Amino acid sequence: MSTTEKRPRLWVAGHRGLVGSAIVRAVAARGDRELLLAGREVVDLTDQAATRAFLLREKPDQIVLAAARVGGIEANRTRPVEFLQENLAIATHVIPAAREAGVTRLLYLGSSCIYPREAPQPIREEALLSGPLEPTNEGYAIAKIAGLKLCQAMRRQHGLLYHAIMPTNLYGPGDNYHPEQSHVIPGLIRRIHEARESGAPEVVIWGTGTPLREFLHAADLAAACLHLLDLADPPDWVNAGSGEEVSILDLARRIAAHLGYRGRLLTDPSRPDGTPRKALDSSRLRAMGWEPRIGLDEGLAAVCREYAGNAARGPVR
Ligand code: GDP
Repeated sequence: MSTTEKRPRLWVAGHRGLVGSAIVRAVAARGDRELLLAGREVVDLTDQAATRAFLLREKPDQIVLAAARVGGIEANRTRPVEFLQENLAIATHVIPAAREAGVTRLLYLGSSCIYPREAPQPIREEALLSGPLEPTNEGYAIAKIAGLKLCQAMRRQHGLLYHAIMPTNLYGPGDNYHPEQSHVIPGLIRRIHEARESGAPEVVIWGTGTPLREFLHAADLAAACLHLLDLADPPDWVNAGSGEEVSILDLARRIAAHLGYRGRLLTDPSRPDGTPRKALDSSRLRAMGWEPRIGLDEGLAAVCREYAGNAARGPVR
């Protein structure tokens, strides 16, 4: 880019989250966009009037919509109202107001849970709306499908390049380590680290330990997002996964090894497993020139180090 060319102004909605913060780091490293950042204290995206006023005032050129209410299997199962309502509100407030504000490009963040529970594996983009969803996260999935469809409708009806990316399970720096509400990687890191510190002889893993999950580092997803934003004619939505699938028990063993925990790992089948398998077919995105760079063990080693370092400085929230 020449120095006289104006850099596009990108609003990263949700810039303090796992995905948003990774995108901010990636944009800062590339230096090819001006960043617009606004936390909840500046604009509450569940407030339609405030969201519209913010966008009409700021008029960014581009948006990555990474703001969402997110959480692990337990949070989704017990609070379906918030997961459905807040995520629907964010999509229906931001996307139409973006059009009014003249935003030319918007990338919407979804999730692999939009696909049917029984979808053929690895899951292709075409599996969308071909069968019933996994009940433990149906509210979240319905909201994310609505957001994707709203982008698709904007593109079809108004010719705007509003499109979406559907990542597999994510992890990375600055994750949510809440003991009940978090996803499996931060949840297990916390419990296993605490067991090591207290000398507990065993750690309980929720469910049977047999579900298979695919994990992608947030930095690899951020690279995928920027890659898509640079494409002239991106697909309406595209999958983003690492292709590296592990069982939950294997994942727990790897985390225990990284944290140096030698106690026993027990399963608790009374807690839900969720969907048995959700591997994404990411060949479409790979064919467009993106590939993940951070292997699961390398990424796990880094987040385990980060967690242990933070815990050594004081209690983790
Ligand atoms: P999901 O991929 O949408 O089901 O979300 P999660 O990341 O919350 O859970 C993945 C799998 O890990 C499920 O089968 C859980 O039962 C299992 N699991 C095992 N221990 C934990 C834990 O401590 N926290 C969470 N969130 N999941 C766990």
